[in-house]
Amino acid sequence: MAMSNSNHIAAYHGIDIGGSKMELVAFADRDGALTEVYRERVATPGDDFAAFVQAIVDLVAHGDAAVGATAPVGIGLPGVIDSASGRQLSSNVPALNGRLVAQTLQQALLRPVAIGNDCQCFALSEAQGGAADHAASMFGAILGTGAGGGYCVGGQLLRGFNGVAGEWGHWSLPATLLAQHGLADYRCPCGKTGCLERYVSGPAMSKLYAHFGGEGTEPLATLAIIARANMGDAVAQRTVTVHLDVLGHALAGLVLAYDPHVIVLGGGLSKLPHLYDKLPAAVKRHLFPGVHVPPILPPRFGDAGGARGAALLIRQHTKAST
Ligand SMILES: [Zn+2]
Repeated sequence: MAMSNSNHIAAYHGIDIGGSKMELVAFADRDGALTEVYRERVATPGDDFAAFVQAIVDLVAHGDAAVGATAPVGIGLPGVIDSASGRQLSSNVPALNGRLVAQTLQQALLRPVAIGNDCQCFALSEAQGGAADHAASMFGAILGTGAGGGYCVGGQLLRGFNGVAGEWGHWSLPATLLAQHGLADYRCPCGKTGCLERYVSGPAMSKLYAHFGGEGTEPLATLAIIARANMGDAVAQRTVTVHLDVLGHALAGLVLAYDPHVIVLGGGLSKLPHLYDKLPAAVKRHLFPGVHVPPILPPRFGDAGGARGAALLIRQHTKAST
């Protein structure tokens, strides 16, 4: 009798790890559709790697009990993994920095573990059952505290040579665009300057408003800037216009590099209705004639899709290796 692995492929755990909380969602895979079976959220042991590993082991044990199987584990977390060493870089969970996270967890859990960054998990979640379900290809573009993303073809995440395909937030803006809008060449935590996430993310809009002379001692929140723009505040209007043009330039770059059939926005700024009205024309301005802007859609799962995307990631890995 052939050994059945059905227990191993009938369920997947997705774990979404943030700086303060981490959440496991256990899914049953019924004919390709993931159904949530169990969910548990705990504090992230951010400074203690041994405690972090133990907390994951405990979460997974509870998930296994809920699905009645030893389910493979997908993990989504901020930051990137050095493709040569396998070590975690620039995570907002200090305990993980420089660690071989996947390898350690694989040994502790005695099963396959896949790790992707949170933006890749977002993209995968929107590509399968989300806003871009059934699209031939899609780009998930997160506009939150930073700008990150992921590119999926046929519902599968394409990771590339370094595993960083979709890291559009760290493309440099051209000097001509900075000069045209009177923008400074901001430093980025990644070590470079002029990275577009410094100009298009949520905090960036507040920074632009202050840069253009907007009033207020505290950085003004994005929604407040948009409200002021709608009320005729010239600095707020300039901020919104420049933000839109820089974002249009950025998404035009994505169209030329990836040519996705659908772009799904994520992160805090994906809740701004004006982006869906005005972005298509803003992107088009940066494209040559004959190139058309794909549909730009709001997310279905959004930030809540992190654990789901992580489960889809391990399913993708498990299927690829069998
Ligand atoms: Zn950068």
